Amino acid sequence: MTDLAPPTETATADAPCPRCHKSAALCVCAEIPEVARPIANKIALLIVQHPQEQDVDLGTARLAALHFKNAVVKVGLSWPSLGKALGRDADPKRWAILYLGSVKAKELMPNREIVALTRKGAAAPDQDAALANIDGIILLDGTWSQAKALWWRNAWMLKAQRVALNPRHPSRYGKLRKEPRRDGLSTLEAAGLLLSRLEKKPEWETMLWASFDKLLLRYRTLREAAKRALASDS
Ligand SMILES: [Zn+2]
Repeated sequence: MTDLAPPTETATADAPCPRCHKSAALCVCAEIPEVARPIANKIALLIVQHPQEQDVDLGTARLAALHFKNAVVKVGLSWPSLGKALGRDADPKRWAILYLGSVKAKELMPNREIVALTRKGAAAPDQDAALANIDGIILLDGTWSQAKALWWRNAWMLKAQRVALNPRHPSRYGKLRKEPRRDGLSTLEAAGLLLSRLEKKPEWETMLWASFDKLLLRYRTLREAAKRALASDS
């Protein structure tokens, strides 16, 4: 179901990891049990990535998808339908999409971490009904302008149930990276919040956080080593 490479291949010094697409120094696939044994999620995950998304070091789309059996990362600009993007039949009305517009979920519904929105950007009157029977979630991966381009080029996304997030925890990126959405979460964190709440599996969010922490630790360690190397040169 996924378009990811088989788990026997790993990153080498020369080639990036075929699964997470990161360099050997940043690939944490071997440290994550779910990469070898992905979780059987009922609510599907579709991550749509802009082809010019450049953050190979800190991007989290593939890492997030690797944890789940029912997850697809698609790189591109537009697809004629949700089904074409997914490679199987799907009704976009039964999918939720993380909305990028200027909606402040916290002000709309301070007590809810996931807020279902109407087309006009208000809170849906019956939140539970709006989020019941969701077949899958769509996340747009890239900078703010890249994500916006994806939104406008794929008319079928307008049919999905829009949601905004009001996370209880700030992003673990900290100051490392600016994210496109107002909620400030990485793609991996947004996937964790949505899937764990909608499927009532809080442990999934904890698991994704642990994986993300492994990546961030590698990144910070590399950066420190680079700084030290620079300092010893001068
Ligand atoms: Zn990897």
